[in-house]
Amino acid sequence: MLIKKKSIYWKMEVSIDLQAENKEIVSRYRKLVKSVRPLMKDNDHKQVRLAFNTALEAHKEMRRKSGEPYIFHPIAVAQICVDEIGLGPTAVIAALLHDVVEDTDMELNDIEKLFGKKVAKIIDGLTKISGVFLQGTSQQAENFRKTLLTLSEDVRVILIKIADRLHNMRTLESMPRNTQLKISSETIFLYAPLAHRLGLYSIKTELEDLYLKYTEPEIYREIASKIQQTKASRNKFIKEFVEPIDDSLNNAGFDYTIKGRPKSIHSIWNKMKKQKVSFEEIYDLFAIRIILETPPDEEKSACWQVYSMVTDFYKPNPDRLRDWVSTPKSNGYESLHVTVMSKTGQWVEVQIRTLRMDEIAEKGFAAHWKYKDSNKEAVGNRETGIEAWISKVREMLENQDGSAIEFVNDFRNNLFSEEVYLFTPKGDLRILPAGATALDFAFEIHTKVGQNCLGAKVNNKLVPISHKLNNGDQIEILTSSKQKPSLDWLRFVVTSKAISKIKDSLRDQKKGVATEGKEIVERTLRLLRIQLSDDVMGELRAYFDCKSSLDFFFMVGQGSIDPGEIRKFREEKKKRDTMPAPVIHDAKSFEKEIRKVRGVEATDQLLIGENMDKIDYALAQCCNPIPGDDVFGFVTVNEGIKIHRTTCPNAVELMSNYGYRIIKVKWTSQKELAFLAGIRITGTDRIGLVQDLTRIISNDLRVNMRSISIDTDDTIFEGKIMLFVNSTEHLEQLILKLSKVDGVVRVDRFDS
Ligand code: MN
Repeated sequence: MLIKKKSIYWKMEVSIDLQAENKEIVSRYRKLVKSVRPLMKDNDHKQVRLAFNTALEAHKEMRRKSGEPYIFHPIAVAQICVDEIGLGPTAVIAALLHDVVEDTDMELNDIEKLFGKKVAKIIDGLTKISGVFLQGTSQQAENFRKTLLTLSEDVRVILIKIADRLHNMRTLESMPRNTQLKISSETIFLYAPLAHRLGLYSIKTELEDLYLKYTEPEIYREIASKIQQTKASRNKFIKEFVEPIDDSLNNAGFDYTIKGRPKSIHSIWNKMKKQKVSFEEIYDLFAIRIILETPPDEEKSACWQVYSMVTDFYKPNPDRLRDWVSTPKSNGYESLHVTVMSKTGQWVEVQIRTLRMDEIAEKGFAAHWKYKDSNKEAVGNRETGIEAWISKVREMLENQDGSAIEFVNDFRNNLFSEEVYLFTPKGDLRILPAGATALDFAFEIHTKVGQNCLGAKVNNKLVPISHKLNNGDQIEILTSSKQKPSLDWLRFVVTSKAISKIKDSLRDQKKGVATEGKEIVERTLRLLRIQLSDDVMGELRAYFDCKSSLDFFFMVGQGSIDPGEIRKFREEKKKRDTMPAPVIHDAKSFEKEIRKVRGVEATDQLLIGENMDKIDYALAQCCNPIPGDDVFGFVTVNEGIKIHRTTCPNAVELMSNYGYRIIKVKWTSQKELAFLAGIRITGTDRIGLVQDLTRIISNDLRVNMRSISIDTDDTIFEGKIMLFVNSTEHLEQLILKLSKVDGVVRVDRFDS
């Protein structure tokens, strides 16, 4: 009885909800139509309605985690596309349908039949990006690359995806904690930089703030409430600061608005962290923005006129003038920024721009389109920035061979770095990431120019290829047909184009040397009457510690392995293979023998055998044990007792085949003696990484480096360092220090 009552009650509640919900759905849809109406043409109306009905039907059984009907989400995404990005009916249709193929029974074919090829293509792109984060890292990267390839086809795919992500971030509250963290980190990793690069400044800022809200909730709340608390005094300050400017703008007859906005929570937090200061100590909590309404041909002069008015009242900081009006940023951003000293002794940033510039700064791409259509001349070369960017992305996509992770890293590096504006001798502008060198510039001009780059003349002064370029430099590249890339060069470049081109030619060079090496090896072996079989190859590689046959042949070709060594290796192996192994049963008898043979006194670092007698020993070179390691002794044929780590790769074989030759050993004490150990460091390659690592190692007075070998495969860096340490503890400390170095992914000990 009770149960029945409950269920009736529940049903009633749902039916009431549904009515209210339907009303709400319709009202949200109406709002959407209202905002997109000015952009709609004849047939658009029908199509938008059809898209809405299709989505409504397809998602009808679905609810979001918050309990809301699912259709709220596509409507909201479409609304963002219109209001915050400035897109039109096609994007609205695609946004309404964006989750339909992925989450419901509807297929791409159905979409194409109803809405045509264009919309179907966008939906297809959107469905594919959603898959990006479902897989492992390398899959993600590869998919992300593919996704960006679609960018050149229809940039709306990316814009709608950003809108989708923004709405998901805004409604992240109802998700479980681990989902919040996952979604947030994807957002800060890819979507915020992507939005930034596309010029969607306010969306980028909101994404960053939301990221902070979910990853550092306390910090977020604290900063937000402090911004709120200081609002009144800030407004008072802004009012007083603006007053004289206000008057002169009015007198000059400008149409304008002035805004004083606090900076984003995320950027304030970044400042607090970077400058190690408290909220109260940050002087530039806000910027003042003067937005002018001017005819297109007066924009530049108007901005500078206002600059001159502002600096009539307040003294400018000469180091803080940014003129993105004459040369827009590559994401299209235009503005004139000046930092001036207020009457109260506070620096204040003033941003001067026109309404058009402001809209582009806020809405990015779409605003560009808008102005492109309505006003061709004024836009003219402003378009080149965006197009240059798209062609950069395309270039990176085409250049990358194999490693998608590398691509994403490069992409991110290029996204985050600031840029330098450079000129060719003829005065053509080239934009490169900050830190770019003369060599980067050479590769930017042409691959061949890069490969043959000998040096450069920067502003008519001769400089080496590693010379870092500054804003406004004019560069003439000097070439020689004899010059060719070397491994060194990778240290001098930052652009992905230069890096990939240098690696290409190094690879080609290596192949050439390896071919010569192979001939030498074959000749040497022929004299020894040995065929170069797979087995022999395997033995050679193991003996000389080469990762691949190519590496081995390369080392021979290069001369770092001498043919004489190959002969010696074969002879030694023959001897070893034919000599019978004497059997020694215990440590005692061996001890006698070894004292007899060598006449040496036992040392006291190891206790060996049942009686734990002190005895002479040698440390096995295959695993280089050091005091503190778990070890065992192995009685060898003619080299005494060899101490191996129990984790030695040879241990299993030794123990299972020669159990009778194994003896128990234990360290007595950890002496301040140095022992050879190997450390393998893997990470993502970056300029200066090797210096950072070696600095740490050489600053540690107890460490003595014996050898270091660095191997970079694309951007993956692998270094092997052999060094002398005192104990496992000491080694662990060092490993800990090294693993904290920026770019290092993994540090572990290896057995040489
Ligand atoms: Mn979605």
